[in-house]
Amino acid sequence: MHSLRNALEQAQKNGVAVGHFNVADLILLKAAFAAAQELNVPVMIGVSEGERQFVGDRQIAALVRSLREEFDFPIFLNADHTHSLAKAMEAAKAGFDSIVFDLSALPFDENARQTKEAVAALKKINPNILIEGEIGDIGTGSEIHEEAPDISKGLTNPAEAKQFVEATRVDILAPAVGNMHGMLKSMVQGETRKHLDIARIAQIKSATRIPLTLHGGSGTDDEDLRKAIAAGINIVHINTELRVAWRRGLEQGLAKEPNEVVPYKVLPTAVEAVKQVVLSRLKLFNNR
Ligand SMILES: [Zn+2]
Repeated sequence: MHSLRNALEQAQKNGVAVGHFNVADLILLKAAFAAAQELNVPVMIGVSEGERQFVGDRQIAALVRSLREEFDFPIFLNADHTHSLAKAMEAAKAGFDSIVFDLSALPFDENARQTKEAVAALKKINPNILIEGEIGDIGTGSEIHEEAPDISKGLTNPAEAKQFVEATRVDILAPAVGNMHGMLKSMVQGETRKHLDIARIAQIKSATRIPLTLHGGSGTDDEDLRKAIAAGINIVHINTELRVAWRRGLEQGLAKEPNEVVPYKVLPTAVEAVKQVVLSRLKLFNNR
């Protein structure tokens, strides 16, 4: 039986990271699964609160479970950025493998207190579910931003990370280490890249000794990603790059067949466009 905990332990041992890709429809899910299958590496499917509202908690859980069972494949489902215990409980009951419980907008003590309560409540629903906690500021919205937000003041302090992990008993921690959600226009055009605070990642890892997630991986410098994984990052989230490929692929598919109305003749172009992005990211995360 495939388990996310096991996949993360293997990733840590092998010095690689599990790729996490957000989906909001079957194009994105098919693309992420096809790429992971081609490389034969574990993969995490993420759905934020907004994405879940569109696809349905139970529906996406059934789809991911069906892929895992039919293909005996390590594909896992994560409830990305969940801001309330009620929504987290819905995901736990629907059968998600993990939940990002994100109260990072609250003051540290309040975040720690409520996250600790959530960990206890969610493990009662499913003792095997993994809960990720968040501290620091990594911005909001996996979209194209006009201006770079100032994230320098919200970087995670290693001592606070240790305190948070011990107080809450989270399984996974998402620190702020120079990463941010979304991409700047210049990043989409390939002119600029995000850079990470590698020394901070290493300090947070040695202080916490648990799996670490890098959110907002889109548009990050490849070499920084490699170093971040070597320093202790075990999960890397990619969303905006997929959304850009999804839109371009859809437009190309429609433009290629201006009179076509059969969805399954138009949509494979979009699947292929997204799959190429997932493939290149999974190769990087898995040292291929
Ligand atoms: Zn995120």
